[in-house]
Amino acid sequence: MTMRRAKRYTVQSFKEKEQTGNDPYSMRGAPKGVLECPECHAMYYRKRWVLPGASGDGRAAQSSGKKAGKAAQPPQPYLCPACRKLRDRYPEGFVSIYWPNWVTYQTEVLNLIHNEEARAREDNPLARIMNIRTRPDGIDIETTTEKMAQRIGQRLRKAFHGDVQYKWSHKDKLARIDWKGPVKVTM
Ligand SMILES: [Zn+2]
Repeated sequence: MTMRRAKRYTVQSFKEKEQTGNDPYSMRGAPKGVLECPECHAMYYRKRWVLPGASGDGRAAQSSGKKAGKAAQPPQPYLCPACRKLRDRYPEGFVSIYWPNWVTYQTEVLNLIHNEEARAREDNPLARIMNIRTRPDGIDIETTTEKMAQRIGQRLRKAFHGDVQYKWSHKDKLARIDWKGPVKVTM
């Protein structure tokens, strides 16, 4: 498949993706059989990435293969799309949090975000937070998927109310979420 490995995020790359339908992070062209990401140890089996230990992570297939004898094959190492995006610094979701008196709330907000990431990863190991940058009045978060950014926005709104805005671009492949914390906190 694609030879563009160390690609950075640019508008051009999104345009290219739209025009050619050639998503450099798709699993088309991946080797057959069970794959294991050497970075995060997620496993790819039956066209799904799953966390190790989750049901259907491919180990069941391996052990039944072992019983059958020759069919057993160890998983092949293959960097998962989330780890590739991390390596390439290629986020598809952005969340900006603005909250006056940010220091007062930062621990609580960060805990909530990390919990949400843990929960999202159970459903989809490719949903990750890539980077968090601190500003005096909040933080900027980059995520591997646009859904992960959306999920954080929803979670913040549910927990603290405030004001959330969702923006999609590049045929919905890129999401920007702005969330403003409430000036008066009623919790
Ligand atoms: Zn990985």
